[in-house]
Amino acid sequence: MARAAAGPEIERLIQLLARLPGLGPRSARRAALHLVKKKEQLLDPLAAALAETRDTILTCDVCGNIDTQSPCTLCRDQSRDPSLICVVEEVGDLWALERAAVVNGRYHVLGGTLSPLDGVGPDDLNIPKLVERARADEVTEVLLALNATVEGQSTAHYLTDQLAGCNVSVSRLAQGVPIGGELDYLDEGTLAAAVKARKAMGG
Ligand SMILES: [Zn+2]
Repeated sequence: MARAAAGPEIERLIQLLARLPGLGPRSARRAALHLVKKKEQLLDPLAAALAETRDTILTCDVCGNIDTQSPCTLCRDQSRDPSLICVVEEVGDLWALERAAVVNGRYHVLGGTLSPLDGVGPDDLNIPKLVERARADEVTEVLLALNATVEGQSTAHYLTDQLAGCNVSVSRLAQGVPIGGELDYLDEGTLAAAVKARKAMGG
């Protein structure tokens, strides 16, 4: 094991930063050094922002989005089209679609995909709430914006069956999402094209 180059507090900071997606040990070390060197400009406001986020974060009771209020900002936004519910696996996918600014409806976050091998069944996902929302009169379309993975696609078929009794058309993203592709990693243009050219499920 490498010898510590700094006191335990700084080593702890480095270890925690190294757990962030996209940061390995080397870049975590670089980030930590940057933070301690820029105490007033960066470290203090970051510490305050983290504490504030921790104290205010919650999950939207309506859609499963993460925000500081429930219903969340998107669910409260009256300018959004209430007839469309866009279903995503994770909050990161919702953020990716919002970056592409192509969905003008509401969202529904499943919290994952069906994965029998990992023991994830329908009861583990935010599905009953989706069916309930899809029954509302104003909802006419449910767009399944799931990843182009085996789990994403089998979840899409399961949801299509579950939504059969609701008076909604069920659509999925168009090809253009590469096989095995995860939405969070797609560029905005590809995502926008996939939403605009969406197809009816089964079609
Ligand atoms: Zn919401």
